[in-house]
Amino acid sequence: SAQGGPVSICYICGAELGPGKEFQLNVNPASRLGEKEPFFPFLTVYPPAPRARPVDSTGLVATCVLCYHDLLAQWLQHEARSTHHTVSAWSRQYQVETFVCFFCQQEKKRCLGLKSVRVARLPLFLYTLRASHSLLVDDGQQLIIGACVECGTLVCAGQGLNRQGPMSWSSPVAAATKVSSSCPSFHSAPPSLASAASSVSWALSVCH
Ligand SMILES: [Zn+2]
Ligand SMILES: [Zn+2]
Repeated sequence: SAQGGPVSICYICGAELGPGKEFQLNVNPASRLGEKEPFFPFLTVYPPAPRARPVDSTGLVATCVLCYHDLLAQWLQHEARSTHHTVSAWSRQYQVETFVCFFCQQEKKRCLGLKSVRVARLPLFLYTLRASHSLLVDDGQQLIIGACVECGTLVCAGQGLNRQGPMSWSSPVAAATKVSSSCPSFHSAPPSLASAASSVSWALSVCH
């Protein structure tokens, strides 16, 4: 129904995938490479997100960068375990119904609830002790972080403010002051969320 051709949708979380942002996972083993290449048979019975393409005739599904790397990481965990105790790659279980927001550390439903946020590669994000099952991908230039809708919206608001006045964003304190005085949603945010989001605003100001 979209103009200019069908929009690609992440099979797992339902995020819209822009050009060049589509990753592909195999449902079946790639025939030449056997069962050493990652493949995810559970996807044949896992319900696709709204508007997502079903598994295609070659056994591929489209995913976003966060879901793709999350499933590869889970595959590798299964591989590491299976040296001592064999679980067939065909019957492995994967945890994709929920994720943990990097910022508020709440477990959220992934389908239509996962927002990807791009931030600078700062130690603040790289070395922060992460909650288990939070999502973070380092593409070498930026970090892509999995946020819930609420935190993702706050971070985007920070980016908007940053574009309006880069000169005033010289320190985290200035950033926090600026955000708390001009962003109404901050007044109702829990303290931990407000501080995480102001750190993000600061990171964005450093990056641009
Ligand atoms: Zn996704
Ligand atoms: Zn959150």
